[in-house]
Amino acid sequence: MNVDELRWSLAGPVLTSADAEYDGARRSYNALVDRKPAVIARCLDAGDVATAFDFARTHELEVAVRGGGHNPAGHCVCDGGLVIDLSQMRAVEVDAEARTARAGGGSTWLDFDTATQAFGLVTPGGVVGSTGVCGLTMGGGIGHLTAQHGLSCDNLIGGELVAPDGSVVQAGPENQELLWALRGGGGNFGVATRLDFRLHPLDGVVGGMFTYGGNDIREAFRRFRDVAAGAGGDLSCQAGLSLDESLAPVLWVAPCYTGSNGDPEALRALRSAPGLVEDAVREHTFADQQRLFDSPYGESRHYWKGHFVRELSDELVDELLQRLQALGRPPGGLLIESLHGAPKDTDGSSGVVGFRQAAFNVSVMAQWQDPAHDEESIAWARETAAALEPWSFSGGGYVNYMQADEPVERVRAAFGDEAFERLRALKRKYDPDNVLHRNQNIPPL
Ligand SMILES: Cc1cc2nc3c(=O)[nH]c(=O)nc-3n(C[C@H](O)[C@H](O)[C@H](O)COP(=O)(O)OP(=O)(O)OC[C@H]3O[C@@H](n4cnc5c(N)ncnc54)[C@H](O)[C@@H]3O)c2cc1C
Repeated sequence: MNVDELRWSLAGPVLTSADAEYDGARRSYNALVDRKPAVIARCLDAGDVATAFDFARTHELEVAVRGGGHNPAGHCVCDGGLVIDLSQMRAVEVDAEARTARAGGGSTWLDFDTATQAFGLVTPGGVVGSTGVCGLTMGGGIGHLTAQHGLSCDNLIGGELVAPDGSVVQAGPENQELLWALRGGGGNFGVATRLDFRLHPLDGVVGGMFTYGGNDIREAFRRFRDVAAGAGGDLSCQAGLSLDESLAPVLWVAPCYTGSNGDPEALRALRSAPGLVEDAVREHTFADQQRLFDSPYGESRHYWKGHFVRELSDELVDELLQRLQALGRPPGGLLIESLHGAPKDTDGSSGVVGFRQAAFNVSVMAQWQDPAHDEESIAWARETAAALEPWSFSGGGYVNYMQADEPVERVRAAFGDEAFERLRALKRKYDPDNVLHRNQNIPPL
């Protein structure tokens, strides 16, 4: 294989292990994933992506696609193959009058929010700025504005893809079937060089974090559940359980309120919940809200597994608190994302996500640094996810958080049988050889 051939034909840079930037470029968010691709093609446009596919086909190289590089399964990198790296394609163009934005295939939520907030506009994205816009959206997209404006993929109105045979395909009004598949079906059908979004006006939010501890944590957790269940479309709310250094349980709740009431009942209820140890909820910019969970890249090992649940019953609250104790050491814990509000109001047939009628997403997030803890950390995540099964909405997990070892049945269950077969037919059309298999894979029919 002569990598210089690729260098000559690609507009963007090409990296191999001989290049100083190679080690940084092959890193994944999940330090558990340590792979060494033969070549990294840093594409600048659709032509570059087609060239990279062609080179991979000629030399029979496995292909991985890198957007923001955050997928916990480490799908953005493969051993010995070719990485189509979109990190140089991060432009976000805003049409403020039409209230739309066009995001480059490798743009991050920080790129996106910076561009759209300059016009007081926004679309619901992820909660960590360095996560990829396209990767997250094509898997669904839950964040600080989910109750207000739905999942990220509900706001997707079009895009441009390069299929593995090098053809350029448009998704949108002219190709509704592909648009449907991109609203949740992941990066299975081609490399998105651009995705288009609907935008919404937003000035500021009331947000931040409430932290609870002590003996009343169960009551505080139930309060979060009740507030989320009763909340309307002006309050998104996520929560998490973790252990502090003394191994005592800690609950955090991150509301994001966009209504006009200066003192909303829901925030009063959270503020007055027992066990409140820190109140960091206040009026601030959406950019501030989006910085709440920023975290270092590629330093920790991760194993995530979870379930969408029908309800957060008292029994499930108790189960989650027990499983938290079994974790035995920080960091890591449980993430609970509420799906009330706009996801329920959106026509489910417009996209492929199968979870919008669930009450919450509960994700078990093992996180550690010492390789000696691999086995027990992974076991804790698996056992905890298994304990949640009785409350599972569909048996399927959230594809955006899935590890690479999930069986195809879990991916199928995430969409439902009918949608999965429809996705498989589309996969046969755009990627019959399953070149794009480093993802939550939909095997071609
Ligand atoms: C710290 C962190 C925070 C997160 N926060 C949220 C959150 O708030 N809400 C949420 O819903 N999810 C969240 N996620 C999960 C995240 O949405 C998924 O892991 C998503 O796949 C990440 O996309 P990426 O482009 O950053 O990742 P990558 O690892 O680069 O890509 C992930 C997958 O998407 C495909 N892909 C990416 N870009 C393209 C493209 N342009 N064209 C075709 N395929 C592409 C890749 O092939 C790969 O299969 C978070 C993950 C992490 C690690």
